[in-house]
Amino acid sequence: MTDLAANVSETETTEAIIQSSQRVTPESTDEVRLIVLRINTPAFYFLEGQNIGILTPGPHPFGNKTHHRYYTIANANKSADSEGVELELLVRRCFYIDEVSGEQYPGEASNYLCNAQPDDKISITGPHRSPFRIPADKTSNLLMLGTGTGIAPFRAFLRLVYQEQGQWDGKVRLFYGAKTGAEMLYMNDINHDLANYYDQATFKAIQSLSKGVLNDEGDALNNGVEANASEIWALLQEPKTHVYLAGIKKIAAAFDASMAKMAGSESQWQAFKQTLIEEKRWSELTYH
Ligand SMILES: Cc1cc2nc3c(=O)[nH]c(=O)nc-3n(C[C@H](O)[C@H](O)[C@H](O)COP(=O)(O)OP(=O)(O)OC[C@H]3O[C@@H](n4cnc5c(N)ncnc54)[C@H](O)[C@@H]3O)c2cc1C
Repeated sequence: MTDLAANVSETETTEAIIQSSQRVTPESTDEVRLIVLRINTPAFYFLEGQNIGILTPGPHPFGNKTHHRYYTIANANKSADSEGVELELLVRRCFYIDEVSGEQYPGEASNYLCNAQPDDKISITGPHRSPFRIPADKTSNLLMLGTGTGIAPFRAFLRLVYQEQGQWDGKVRLFYGAKTGAEMLYMNDINHDLANYYDQATFKAIQSLSKGVLNDEGDALNNGVEANASEIWALLQEPKTHVYLAGIKKIAAAFDASMAKMAGSESQWQAFKQTLIEEKRWSELTYH
């Protein structure tokens, strides 16, 4: 959170109106909602991969002046509507346990957003600078690895390249990990939007689940990566491959460990990864 915070002005805000809010995970699992915001400001312009900030109204439970949290935009910018834009957010309702009292408290911004009703007005900041960018060259390969609400920027990318731009010639590979099939966002019975792209010749989605003991999204993604490590490694050797990691923080270390095995050693992988970073072909958008 803090790496972006330095660039953020919490005073430059834009009004957004809640258009709709739909739960996209079953009742038996963690709650994630697809929330659509309307911004009636013609000048508001965003790029796929960017995020906005949400300012929750005070007073705040811990006496802080403001409470500002980021959420990634999950749709493409159509720019067709001269009166404003719609933004889609995927928001997980968060809770935390107070170390002293042991009590469970609701996360402030996520609960504020998840409780918001259609026509409610909220204050947003941004859109904010993001490391995630689609390359201009349509023959580039896009290797996307994510968990949970980390699917948001990838959904925006898929919308952009296949729906708005109409074609992408490079390979597009989406590796996505979830605890259960029902928690596969945009790929479950409640919302199956990614099915719109399954017939694209250049697109392949590889879903994987946790094997049970750890039962978390990071472990799930790791299982998919391990099972396809040779294909991923081969893709990484192509000079036009761009890597995107999104979701919980620990996926980056797990991916490093898998690729170190392919590279032959941790140091060889780190040297290879450094080249990707220098060539601006590596980006991460991970959070707790
Ligand atoms: C670039 C970026 C993009 C993001 N995109 C998304 C997205 O698309 N969807 C999404 O759901 N989330 C996203 N997030 C995460 C999101 O910004 C929030 O961090 C998350 O929703 C929790 O915020 P909150 O205000 O609900 O919880 P908070 O109230 O901030 O609590 C969050 C955590 O802070 C800790 N905490 C806070 N206060 C205390 C306290 N007093 N005592 C102990 N612990 C405390 C706890 O560990 C708790 O789990 C993104 C984050 C970043 C940085």
